[in-house]
Amino acid sequence: MEIQEFIERQLGLWPAAAERFRALEGVETKTVEMPCGTTYRVQFNPSRAVSTRAKVDAATIAARPCFLCARNRPPEQLSMPWEDLEILVNPFPIFPGHLTIAARDHQPQTLRGRVDQMKRLSRELPGYTIFFNGAKAGASAPDHFHFQAVPSRFMHVGGPYESYKLTGEGAETVDEMINAVCTDGVLTVIPRRRHRPECYDQIGVSPASIDLCGTLIAVSCEDFDALTGERVEQILREVTEQEPQLYVGLTGDATEFQTDAEGIHTVAGVRIGDGFHWQRDETFRYGGKMMKFNGRLVNRIGLEEYLKSVISSEMSATSSIELLKAHTVISRSWVLAQMRATRVRACAGIPVNEKEGADLLQWFDRDDHEGFDVCSDDHCQRYQGITRQTSPLVAQAVDATRGLVLTTADGRIADARFSKCCGGAFELFENCWEPRHHSYLEAGPDAPEGSPLPDLTGEEEARRWILSAPPAYCNCEDSEVLAQVLNDFDRETTPDFYRWEVAYGVDELSDLIRRRSGIDFGRIDALEPVRRGLSGRIYQLRIRGSKKEMIVGKELIIRRWLSESHLRSSAFVVDRQDDKFILHGAGWGHGVGLCQIGAAMMAAQGFNYQEILRHYFPNTTL
Ligand SMILES: [Zn+2]
Ligand SMILES: [Zn+2]
Ligand SMILES: [Zn+2]
Repeated sequence: MEIQEFIERQLGLWPAAAERFRALEGVETKTVEMPCGTTYRVQFNPSRAVSTRAKVDAATIAARPCFLCARNRPPEQLSMPWEDLEILVNPFPIFPGHLTIAARDHQPQTLRGRVDQMKRLSRELPGYTIFFNGAKAGASAPDHFHFQAVPSRFMHVGGPYESYKLTGEGAETVDEMINAVCTDGVLTVIPRRRHRPECYDQIGVSPASIDLCGTLIAVSCEDFDALTGERVEQILREVTEQEPQLYVGLTGDATEFQTDAEGIHTVAGVRIGDGFHWQRDETFRYGGKMMKFNGRLVNRIGLEEYLKSVISSEMSATSSIELLKAHTVISRSWVLAQMRATRVRACAGIPVNEKEGADLLQWFDRDDHEGFDVCSDDHCQRYQGITRQTSPLVAQAVDATRGLVLTTADGRIADARFSKCCGGAFELFENCWEPRHHSYLEAGPDAPEGSPLPDLTGEEEARRWILSAPPAYCNCEDSEVLAQVLNDFDRETTPDFYRWEVAYGVDELSDLIRRRSGIDFGRIDALEPVRRGLSGRIYQLRIRGSKKEMIVGKELIIRRWLSESHLRSSAFVVDRQDDKFILHGAGWGHGVGLCQIGAAMMAAQGFNYQEILRHYFPNTTL
């Protein structure tokens, strides 16, 4: 695209515009340092007053002729068609090369459906950064769709605000409270909290994309002088989001919501326990913003508010504060890791050469969602809006750890995992999910530092370990501690998670495996551990039947096939007595990362949450 040629031709024909472009060479700028450490430029540009001072209320907009519609443009203005847009030279430039790229038709300012177009345009204009100002985020023409573009050297995302890369067509695109910038196909979104800062009446700044990307525009001499580093930072903080905003897709068929005078949204028909026997639909109330994306309701909510709801749902109200803090840090880390990391879809089988001799090797991880970060159901973390009363203790735990996450040695946010009870030893991530080692998900004993851990990958040691009940934090029968972690904890029965036993008759087991696997093994002759992880969990099991023999894994497949619901864990040894199979087992869940019962016990023994997290997640920094 011969954009430079176009600009020169335009300026040759339009002396007034050319004059303003020439004036940019002498424009007054200063550099200020903000308290957050970022340096910023302030530009004194009185010709921008029209835009900065523009009234953008509905009545004014409706009354004025639209300056982006072709019929209202000055006769000198040239246009260059591209897709359904027209490229125009901006007659009130902030930088050399400043373009306005407007829709040919008069239509509202929304990025919805145009994310891919924006990326395409940025590739067609190399050296340029394309930007979009939402209708309530600095756009001076909220009624006529337009991008703008300036040479990339003038645009730098970064400052005291939250921003993120948008891959794919996300929920963000339904929002009018954003600025978005795109260079070489990479699109960054800056969510907004306000259209204009509190001080707008005193200082005429109306921050839009350029103002958030390194250069704040002042339209009067007094404003230019008043904009110190402190003031600039204050303005940027006021109009942007300081806290990561989470997009939560509500599970179920609900598409309607009512919003009351306080801005609280009520939604009927939100599903919980989707696909489980406790599935039901309920009515919940939500703060934040409610929007629709691909026919689904999506709640935009600040991360910390989200955590208060999630932790209240997941933890008992009797939990100790240090346990709640530890859990909050893990939930926050997990959810941010979901938002930030590109995750491997790990539901499919893996290539044959990585199967290590197994016939079937599968593991199950969360699929990414399309268009939102997490869903509201157990599949991610259960989120019931503000319906569930936040306990004061949970609010205290969330506030006390505000913004704290676990980071890995290379500075990324840890994908923190947890399960109910490790059974005395933690398992490696790669023995449960994709074959990738994480330095913060190591195997180890759930016991005071220096405690020995026998080699549980060997059959003999595993048997000795599982049939005994070695001391561990989660080897606990204290009903007050257990009640903190186990929902509907029954104080009358002996808990059976640290060590447990399940017995099946041969016919019963043969029938169970046939139904659960969909494979006819005939009469089951043997269950033989082939590979055990460092916690004694079997991740490859040979099933020998009269008709078929197979090696299967990983732990979740084994637990599903050997139980009507889920076997407590895959850390078990098998004894054959006459026509019975007896499974002696240890622990509840995958055993990777934090052991909830062990953590509750540590908190009860006086460990603080930092010590608890260090114990379960080595090689991490808080
Ligand atoms: Zn128009
Ligand atoms: Zn989900
Ligand atoms: Zn444990």
